[in-house]
Amino acid sequence: MQVWDRKLENMKLVRASSETALPSYRMGVSVMLQSAYMKRVYDQVLARDPDQKEFQQAVLEVLESLEPMLEKHPEYEKAGLLERFVEPERTIVFRVPWVDDAGNVRVNRGYRVQFNSAIGPYKGGLRFHPTVNLSILKFLGFEQILKNSLTGLPIGGGKGGADFDPKGKSDAEVMRFCQSFMTELQRHIGLDVDVPAGDIGVGGREIGFLFGQYKRIRDSYDAGVLTGKGLDFGGSLARTEATGYGLCYLTAEMLKCMKNESFAGKTVVISGSGNVAIFATEKATALGAKVVALSDSNGYVHDPNGINLDVVKDIKLRRRGRMKEYAQEVPGSTYADGFKGIWTIPCDIALPCATQNEIDGEIAQTIVKNGTMAVAEGANMPSTPEAIEVFRKAGILFAPAKAANAGGVATSALEMSQNSMRYSWTFQEVDAKLKDIMTGIFHNIYNAAQEYGGDLVVGANIAGFQKVANAMLAQGLV
Ligand code: NDP
Repeated sequence: MQVWDRKLENMKLVRASSETALPSYRMGVSVMLQSAYMKRVYDQVLARDPDQKEFQQAVLEVLESLEPMLEKHPEYEKAGLLERFVEPERTIVFRVPWVDDAGNVRVNRGYRVQFNSAIGPYKGGLRFHPTVNLSILKFLGFEQILKNSLTGLPIGGGKGGADFDPKGKSDAEVMRFCQSFMTELQRHIGLDVDVPAGDIGVGGREIGFLFGQYKRIRDSYDAGVLTGKGLDFGGSLARTEATGYGLCYLTAEMLKCMKNESFAGKTVVISGSGNVAIFATEKATALGAKVVALSDSNGYVHDPNGINLDVVKDIKLRRRGRMKEYAQEVPGSTYADGFKGIWTIPCDIALPCATQNEIDGEIAQTIVKNGTMAVAEGANMPSTPEAIEVFRKAGILFAPAKAANAGGVATSALEMSQNSMRYSWTFQEVDAKLKDIMTGIFHNIYNAAQEYGGDLVVGANIAGFQKVANAMLAQGLV
């Protein structure tokens, strides 16, 4: 009973009246994890890694969703499938020593979580951010398994990174860090083994340095070993745009199918101002919406006339500056400190594209009060379970990250395909495939939601899980 108590405290849940029941958030009513099997698996996660809150949160959400499906598949329990599913196949933790510009030796911690290879080589980004730890990478790697499965492409799930902050570092420092990081990582990855990509803090510059070091050590031009590469050395057109564009394609399909609506004429708020936020802004604007706010970790900009994306790109992509500078350069816009305040701005469509757990229950209430019709997650797990519950109760359309932001990894897989063929598709070809994939993901999760009587969160978890689970069953006890 102890681990359940700790979990309840962690997630600020109300204590259940039953001794063995865990309250959860499905479909606007407090429901319980019914199955003894589920509870056992979740207990094991809590007992094994009691401090990994983000990972616990991700596992709980998925287990809740899978309950109706597992009832129909007793073979999964017999095969110990869930116990295996929540435990990474391999976790690598390593020292990353490097020298800063002043000649000081610095040491960071590097990670690679190789979570699940049932349907393809491990695939998932690298995150360089001071908050990186094993809990965050396990949550991201776990989500990645399902997300990659939803793309319909043959890629397993993984995630990695380091507690290194590229912010404020010179290009030379970032290069030395990346070279040291790859000196260890290279022995664990490979074309058909594990294919990392970018994530927060890892953009084109970092991928270039990482690829250069891999090639130098391995003496082999394995272009497909990393994705998100520059266009001159095996990168795919439209990869940079893919997560943000894909988010809008899926959101557009959800609006059309579930509300007979579109982006045209809508007001949109997008948090963040990194890769995902910038290209979500570009596509939402192209689809006829007005994006009125963006943020960074210090604060947010409100531009009622519609965000001028050229200015944002200049600040963020070329100057590596802060959003504060936008308000100094664009008349009629304002800047406020504190990144959470962005959600007080009324909008029709909310696209959180910054980081995990940025929308809590209280912020979700504000979003609902402001009359928002749809929330689609560009970032990974930006909404807390309490926030998702608020959206469900309010009947707002809600597209979870593992479906809504799968466009990035889907296009990474297209980059791998092009590398294998030693051939490049045009921007239009890749963009068209991306649109098809995102539209397909929406219908896949929508159909699963209909079949099992849940919402899109349930649909995404079930649709993503089924393919991986069947592959694991077929491959025996591995
Ligand atoms: P970037 O590093 O390009 O941008 C991240 C943005 O989020 C920046 O504006 C950053 O502000 C802000 N941010 C980061 N940490 C925090 C924090 N703790 N609080 C508030 N704001 C924060 O990353 P991406 O745009 O690539 O990624 C954004 C999200 O999307 C992440 O959750 C990532 O996992 C997810 N994602 C990304 C994909 C991709 O293809 N890039 C694919 C799928 C998911 P600041 O500059 O101040 O740090």
